[in-house]
Order: sequence, then C-alpha cells, then structure tokens
Amino acid sequence: MLKETIIVGPCSAESEKQLLETAEELKKRKIRFMRASLWKPRTAPGFDGVKSKGFPWFAKITKMGIFIGTEVMLPEHVIKLTKEVEKRGGDPAKLFFWLGSRNQNHFIQKKIAKTVELKTPKNTKLIIKNQPWKSKEHWLGIVQHVLSSKIKKERLILCHRGFHDEKNKKIRNTPDFKMANDIKKELGNIPMIIDYSHIGGNYEGIKKILLCAQKYTFDGKMIEVHPLPKHALTDKNQQISFEEFDKLNIN
Ligand code: PEP
Ligand code: MN
Repeated sequence: MLKETIIVGPCSAESEKQLLETAEELKKRKIRFMRASLWKPRTAPGFDGVKSKGFPWFAKITKMGIFIGTEVMLPEHVIKLTKEVEKRGGDPAKLFFWLGSRNQNHFIQKKIAKTVELKTPKNTKLIIKNQPWKSKEHWLGIVQHVLSSKIKKERLILCHRGFHDEKNKKIRNTPDFKMANDIKKELGNIPMIIDYSHIGGNYEGIKKILLCAQKYTFDGKMIEVHPLPKHALTDKNQQISFEEFDKLNIN
C-alpha cells in the first residue's frame, strides 16, 4: 500500500452487484483500495456478514485490479478467503485484512497476525484499529501482542477510529489525534490512517472531522461509501453516497 492510501467502500459486502458497482465508481476516481467486510461483529444478533458467499465477489474485484479488504474475526477467515480467491483465478496479493475495534481477545489477535505472516503473500497488510474505549496503554498493547506473533512490522498499518464516549453525543466516536500521532511515533512510525466514518457517524460529522484532523498528519484514510446508503444493511447512517464523497473533495 502506498503513502496517503485512501480506502473507500461499503461497511459490509452485501451483494455482488453492490461490490461491482462500487468497484466501477472507484475506477472512475482512480482509487485502488476498497473496503467491504465479509464478517461483521454486531451488538445484537442480526445480519453479521455474507461470509463465504462473498469469496467469489472478492476474487472478481481483485481481477479488476483493485485491492479489497475485510475485517477478519478469526485466523481461518484469512486462510479461507486467500485460498478461495486464488482458486477462482483472483489475485490474493490484492487482499488486505483488518482487526476491528471489538476484537479484543489478544490470543485471537496474535493468531490472526501469525496467519497473515505465514499464509498470505509477502506484502499483504494487516490493519489494526484501536479498541472502542480510550486507553493509550491498551492501544499500544494490541500492537505489542500482534508484533509478538513475529509478523513483520512492514505489514502493519494502524487505524484511528475514535473512542466511545457516553458523554459526547456530538460525534459517534471521539477522536484523540494527538494520542494517535504519539502512538505512531512510539511504535517507530508504523503508518497510521484515519477512519472518518466511524468517528464522524454521518455526513455532517465526517465534514467536521475532516476540518479538525487537518493539522495532524495521517498516512491515509478509510471512508465508508455505499452505492445506495439508504439500503445499507449495517452502519446505514454513516455510509455516504459517491455524490457526497465527491463533495468532500478528499480524493
Ligand atoms: C467497520 O470498519 O465497519 C467497523 C465495524 O469498524 P470498527 O471496528 O472501527 O467499529
Ligand atoms: Mn462500519
């Protein structure tokens, strides 16, 4: 992945049509990295991802020359997706993965990291999102657990997605840009990207965050964009349309 990476796409993979339409929109804008989760941790039971049904869709997207990433909840998600994309003539080197904010079992974090190191092409990246609650120690701890799996540091990208704060209803997840910048430095400059969507929570919130984040340096950004946000199965309020995305002028 390059410096100033921009990762754009829906919260969840929902259908082949949705992913192909998104990929076409990305191509028009010369964006090379797409997000779409196959597995979704949910607060209450409900739609929790299309899971293996999406493997052929991912294979198709990689064949279009686009990198595509998903949250992975278990080590076997990394293995299965990589194998299935390869089996279908897709390019496993165009996949990337992330550890979501809710996946705070360090045994699993470590196993996922080890799996990425051992079972995926050598430049495949693992993004690590911060945990939902504010704690610098815990955030550093996740990365230390991950590094203890012996995954190469060059594979890692950190992602700030804000912290849950009951007292601050103005924003979905309150960011701490200074903490994010300090963590990046303390870890010897592992790239740090910013997830505008999970911080902002909706289009207006995203616009505000864009302004507040301006004076801090991030190595890239992630933003949830859906071809039809009103019909989204997850994070409906914060997924924006491509029209809105263009208005943000961040590409
Ligand atoms: C997501 O990226 O869709 C997601 C669930 O994010 P987080 O883990 O930051 O809540
Ligand atoms: Mn989401």
